[in-house]
Amino acid sequence: RVPVTALLQRPADAIVRPQAAAHPKIPLPGDLFAPERRNSRGVEFGARAALEQLLTDVKAATPSLKLIADATPDQANAAVAAARAGFAAWSRTPAAIRAAALEQAAHLLESRGAHFIALLQSEGGKTLDDALSELREAADFCRYYAAQGRRLFGSETAMPGPTGESNALAMRGRGVFVAISPWNFPLAIFLGQVTAALMAGNSVVAKPAEQTPRIAREAVALLHEAGIPTSALHLVTGDGRIGAVLTAHEHIAGVVFTGSTEVARLINRTLAAKDGPIVPLIAETGGINAMIADATALPEQVADDVVMSAFRSAGQRCSALRLLFVQEDVADRMIEMIAGAARELKIGDPSDVATHVGPVIDVEAKQRLDAHIARMKSEARLHFAGTAPEGCFVAPHIFELRDTAELTEEVFGPILHVVRYRAETLERVLQAIERTGYGLTLGIHSRIDDTVEAIIDRVQVGNIYVNRNMIGAVVGVQPFGGHGLSGTGPKAGGPHYLARFATEQTVTINT
Ligand code: NAP
Repeated sequence: RVPVTALLQRPADAIVRPQAAAHPKIPLPGDLFAPERRNSRGVEFGARAALEQLLTDVKAATPSLKLIADATPDQANAAVAAARAGFAAWSRTPAAIRAAALEQAAHLLESRGAHFIALLQSEGGKTLDDALSELREAADFCRYYAAQGRRLFGSETAMPGPTGESNALAMRGRGVFVAISPWNFPLAIFLGQVTAALMAGNSVVAKPAEQTPRIAREAVALLHEAGIPTSALHLVTGDGRIGAVLTAHEHIAGVVFTGSTEVARLINRTLAAKDGPIVPLIAETGGINAMIADATALPEQVADDVVMSAFRSAGQRCSALRLLFVQEDVADRMIEMIAGAARELKIGDPSDVATHVGPVIDVEAKQRLDAHIARMKSEARLHFAGTAPEGCFVAPHIFELRDTAELTEEVFGPILHVVRYRAETLERVLQAIERTGYGLTLGIHSRIDDTVEAIIDRVQVGNIYVNRNMIGAVVGVQPFGGHGLSGTGPKAGGPHYLARFATEQTVTINT
């Protein structure tokens, strides 16, 4: 029997070859999204056996989709009060013990992989490929923050000082952190926020997206089982109104939020309007992410990477490609190749291993995306429209825009917008990217080093991917987060993240 963990293990060379590690080495039958199954890295045989076992286990692990009640405002306030009471003991718990609990959580997640995959599929609509990489990312967050936390919080830093005086700098939790997460990574982002806040010594009240409360409930139960005291971690379910109650509470010490720029702004205003201490907000938000492909790019690779970046996860990734700038000289050929690759995608039931594109999250999302497609049909040139089954599905579409002014909002689905540019107007492309105000991800496909360097130098974008796809940042390898309208930083899964959850204390002793 091959354990699920065999599928979760990162190849030994992940740190030196992040590109190879950016998406799972899992050979799904007919899967366009796993092109490396065609190369010979010696993983295929073992992974296939593990995959078959996993499919059996996932089928057997059908979760019960019980109704979950929304919390009332009184319950939300009570959760903050309880977290406040739990803060002192948890913040005094040695960092090594806090870290050990997170490591145990990673272990439990992996050993119950089939269960969480089944849950991600049934509640989050994730394909097997997506569910597996999300599970791995969630376990990676737990282990990475445990390792970072040991380093940052394990001991004080002795500072230099005059003879007869000792100076030490320590990092401590701030108090009650409110963690508000989106539905598109209901396990990984939820756990990433919560474990970072806990590792830094905070107690936590977590509010998941209204669409995915069961995954959050199971993740919290798992953290409690792994050793996080129930007094230090509380779950509050409900919609944005309950999130607003939490962020308005007078006794919270910080908010970590991932979601839309619009809601981040609302939270920012709420925090700013409060009396009392200034409450920090860590916000990771959306983007209108672009890719630039010039005439020197390899067309086959561009087609593969564009399809993966724009359509994987039904385009429901904050990092997903929305705007592709293609150099005029090669545009016709490239668009044709991309449309050809998109035509191969299978859209439908996420529990079918052959599916590439699963459902969108809910009916409202489908209606929003359908309305955008209808508008684009009248305003832009349609190059490709896939076919989707009945239900909450949106087929991949490719539209050509005359200029970027036609795309001013993040379109959170499998819709790619293409704009042609001429070599001498590259500067206008960069200005257009800048004008969006966002700065989350950028893809560059070019074999001219000077062009690549000039673009990197010029743009204010958090994560840049050169000659590869632009999604699937790996924890500890590609720290993730944006600039401008895309977020405040620091980057999740990076070495500076935990420090923002903590406060510093310097103690000077006259010896
Ligand atoms: P959203 O509508 O902004 O919701 C995010 C969270 O905020 C949900 O839990 C939501 O609750 C809650 N919320 C809504 N109104 C609130 C309020 N007034 N006060 C406090 N909390 C409130 O975003 P989403 O639709 O779930 O997620 C998609 C967005 O997330 C996209 O813009 C995507 O780009 C972004 N995202 C960014 C990153 C990143 O790392 N930069 C990663 C993933 C997603 P309800 O769900 O119950 O309304």
